[in-house]
Amino acid sequence: MAVKDPWVEYFMVGILQMRCSVVTDRATGDTVIIDGGAEPERIIQWIDEFSGQGPDWTNGPQSFAEMKEMNIPSRKVVALLNTHAHFDHSGHIPDLKDRYQVDWYLHPDDTFLQTLAQKSALRYGFQIPEPAVADVDLIADQLLDVGALTFEIRHTPGHTLGGCSLLLLVEDGPDHLFVGDTLFAGSVGRTDLPDTGGDFSVLAHSIHTQLWPLDPSTLVYPGHGPMTTIGHEKETNPFVGDSSGAGTYTIGKYS
Ligand SMILES: [Zn+2]
Ligand SMILES: [Zn+2]
Repeated sequence: MAVKDPWVEYFMVGILQMRCSVVTDRATGDTVIIDGGAEPERIIQWIDEFSGQGPDWTNGPQSFAEMKEMNIPSRKVVALLNTHAHFDHSGHIPDLKDRYQVDWYLHPDDTFLQTLAQKSALRYGFQIPEPAVADVDLIADQLLDVGALTFEIRHTPGHTLGGCSLLLLVEDGPDHLFVGDTLFAGSVGRTDLPDTGGDFSVLAHSIHTQLWPLDPSTLVYPGHGPMTTIGHEKETNPFVGDSSGAGTYTIGKYS
């Protein structure tokens, strides 16, 4: 079922400043963490205690007193979802699983990539836990109910083989789309990363067929950089927007 006025927070985490989003249904407190890739203690502290550095952006309460005023019940993390398995997005899933004991969802075409997370992190010079193994497969075109939140799963390969865009259905406002590194404000995800299956023509096809048909008002939460909307990117994105034609292509800048 579409949620009303979701409480959304995001945290730009880790050395690659990856966007970890936390979505809560204000009526039930059901909460989903999207792309728990780094700084798990910061995210856990905030969700459990409203303490520590907190989110970089929120449209919800910032203390238990405010939560009570707004009649929001205690938060309950019901699932961990991932847009794809690059280590900056998935490296600290084991810590979040340890704390919340819930299923982790990933598209199976990224399973191989996930096994390489430690190796990829080492390339940037740091260590992460033994990679998590997904509990549940994300399936293209499925309507996924996690607690009171419903996501439409759009398989958008091109940055990685199993990349998905997760569309949170909202009853009383624009839907929210968590795209990972498929689409950025004014750019697109890299397609040259090792062991990943990146391919620009596949990426462009994914965006054209899975994302552009969405309502122009759809809010886009990219894995890195500023937020945007489907309408704005469709009109102006130099790589995949309406004016990009079949012209030259240079790679995007985010991993
Ligand atoms: Zn990525
Ligand atoms: Zn990334």
